[in-house]
Amino acid sequence: MRWSDRQLAMLREMGVRVWAAQDEPAGAPIVAEEADAAVVAPPSVTAPAHAPLAPPRPLVMAAPGAALPTGIATMAWPELRATVAACTACTLCESRTQTVFGVGHERAHWMIVGEAPGEQEDRQGEPFVGKSGQLLDNMLRAIALTRAEAEPARQVYIANTLKCRPPGNRNPAPAELAACEAFLIRQVQLVQPKIILAMGRFAVQSLLRSTEPIGRLRGRVHHYQGVPLIVTYHPAYLLRNLDDKAKAWDDLCLALETVRAGAPN
Ligand code: URA
Repeated sequence: MRWSDRQLAMLREMGVRVWAAQDEPAGAPIVAEEADAAVVAPPSVTAPAHAPLAPPRPLVMAAPGAALPTGIATMAWPELRATVAACTACTLCESRTQTVFGVGHERAHWMIVGEAPGEQEDRQGEPFVGKSGQLLDNMLRAIALTRAEAEPARQVYIANTLKCRPPGNRNPAPAELAACEAFLIRQVQLVQPKIILAMGRFAVQSLLRSTEPIGRLRGRVHHYQGVPLIVTYHPAYLLRNLDDKAKAWDDLCLALETVRAGAPN
């Protein structure tokens, strides 16, 4: 694959250097290299290992005793947004500044699902606005996607598995994930994305009902609510583990290829 100057600039932003040997014949492989990391082979974008289509997951039950709002499965955007804002289904409502619903194109082709709001997201009411959000934006820009206003093929929709910040950024509790999942399912149903990019262990394990580590789940196509889902590392993890940025780039390429493979000719 040959990258345009713009794509190369974006890859540099992500911390991934891409280069071709000077006298390489046209069409020869290009190698993506992570700064300070071993040289890695380019992602295979021609033959993703597609998993068989899984049936949509049933709605999970809320945590025992939680006052989960009813009728979520048929709500339109305004009602869903208002219901999330007023939700008291778990104890996170007691410590939040505000709920963090999600942002982006309501019919985006790409849906990004992170874990939970952090301190800045809780303050601003928007997902991924801290340092990890900057890296996410750079990753998206590297594949010509954005959270800014654009057409649905380019403007993503970003949401979290939890709509409220866990105090002190502690790990999400299983009961909290269960209580919040109906909101995410409805968001997926309304957006109808062509691809979901799930970022981080808790988001991935909760969506896929898995206890496998990310390293074992990435590199193939899963499904959530009938939508192809690609597993990747959380941007906050990538900020601490630079060596794995090249793998995240592979994941983005697999997601791109999956979207292209599903697109009508
Ligand atoms: N991490 C997440 O998973 N989501 C956010 O919104 C912010 C940080």
